[in-house]
Amino acid sequence: MKILETIAAFKAERDKIGGSVGFVPTMGYLHDGHLELVRRARAENITVIASIFVNPSQFGAQEDFSSYPRDTERDLAMLEEENVRLVFMPAIEEMYPQGFSTWVEVEKITERLEGESRPGHFRGVATVVAKLFNIVQPDSAYFGQKDAQQLAVICRMVSDLGLNLDIVAVPTVREPDGLAMSSRNIFLTAEERKAALVLWKALCLARGHWEKGQRDVASLRQEMASLIEHEPFANIDYISIADPETLQEIDVIDSPALVSLAVRIGGTRLIDNTMLGV
Ligand code: AMP
Repeated sequence: MKILETIAAFKAERDKIGGSVGFVPTMGYLHDGHLELVRRARAENITVIASIFVNPSQFGAQEDFSSYPRDTERDLAMLEEENVRLVFMPAIEEMYPQGFSTWVEVEKITERLEGESRPGHFRGVATVVAKLFNIVQPDSAYFGQKDAQQLAVICRMVSDLGLNLDIVAVPTVREPDGLAMSSRNIFLTAEERKAALVLWKALCLARGHWEKGQRDVASLRQEMASLIEHEPFANIDYISIADPETLQEIDVIDSPALVSLAVRIGGTRLIDNTMLGV
């Protein structure tokens, strides 16, 4: 496995690779969710390339960019174990050199949910991902359904700009009790870790009611909200039941629906989602 820190050095190695390339972009502090993307890429391609880059432009001023967890040594050992061929690990100045002034803005589907709670977030995500795609030149790139809106934004961007690669969605990997794996789970205290399960419980509650025939979104949302409000450590940012493609809220579930939520557990903001009807 080779670790490349500059675009020039990376391109020199990339040029030596023939056959299909699967790409897994990450912000590091890897867990089994990330590794699932790597394994899927491994199964479907001759070569796997990963990147580790904590992208400053997707964090708001009040967000956790500087405290975002990092452990490069451990990450690299995990990627090596999974037979990753190249790891692109640029410094901030490499990706955003002086004078950098080109941004990718995906409209409409970025207006709500994460985009509304985190202004500018998807502008940073789309820009860095587009740049990584240009540098890495993958045949396929792998993204987690855990970040459902991000996945929708990337698919929109790839389609709108006619980028020449496939986007592969990988199901969310969870802890044995159901909590979605996330690099940010490390911030949770033992008590908060227990409380964090309320996201998964709320999604399961919605699924349970839906399976019994409930189709009214307002009722489902209310049930989820009251469950979460009973958890003292939890503060709801949003609960959404929306069309999975447009991310517009719906009133009645009569086709596949994306149930997603963002909840603060103490000082840590967690997101999760599930699809109903697929
Ligand atoms: P991040 O390092 O948080 O930017 O995530 C990198 C990629 O891993 C994104 O495509 C995420 O959606 C994906 N990912 C993060 N957590 C999980 C998980 N629990 N299961 C599956 N994919 C995940």
